[in-house]
Amino acid sequence: MRKLVLATHNQGKIDEFKRLLAEYAGDVIVLGLSDFPDMPNVAETGKTLIENALLKSRAIAKFTNLPALADDSGLFVDYLNGAPGIYSARFAGYQGQIASERDRLNNERLLKELRNVARPDRKAQFNCAVVFTNLNLDFEAQELGKLSGEIAEAAIGEAGFGYDSLFIPEGFDQTLAQLGAGVKDRISHRGLAMRAIVPTLSLHL
Ligand code: IMP
Repeated sequence: MRKLVLATHNQGKIDEFKRLLAEYAGDVIVLGLSDFPDMPNVAETGKTLIENALLKSRAIAKFTNLPALADDSGLFVDYLNGAPGIYSARFAGYQGQIASERDRLNNERLLKELRNVARPDRKAQFNCAVVFTNLNLDFEAQELGKLSGEIAEAAIGEAGFGYDSLFIPEGFDQTLAQLGAGVKDRISHRGLAMRAIVPTLSLHL
């Protein structure tokens, strides 16, 4: 049976990826990091999303001796010269473990940085890099996904995570947190990058 390890503990992300992969290769067992509790944490020391995804994917492939797929995403705001970018998760410097608190503080900081910045200058992009590594076949592939939009003047909506309640995708007049998972899966940076890599990946397992 062919196997693949995703660089996540999140069962929701694993289930979503399984659905994508099923179109190309229904016989693959998709594992997550919870299946490898001894896997050391990989430091994200890269200077780009691709570098960080490469670090994670190679480390997991080496540790598990299985093909691995890793992603890294971030929010790039034009007015802030691309910040928070690769530092999106740590933008407000929160050190604790409560994800909702980290997101709240990050959003608060972003709104503060964009205070008094008018609409045409609030443009931003979510970018996602995905890297697939199969050391046994000496094969590696990478893809990028991008979602353009703008930063709202206040947080609205309940769905999603991170900066979803502040991000209005191009062509919509609601935030990702208002639009919900169905729309987001279809248009998101992560969805685009994953859908782009799946056909190649399914041929190299
Ligand atoms: P990760 O690489 O998927 O862990 O994303 C890093 C950080 O970027 C997250 O902690 C969020 O702050 C932000 N981010 C990435 N993707 C999204 C998204 O789809 N919605 C909202 N925030 C996101």
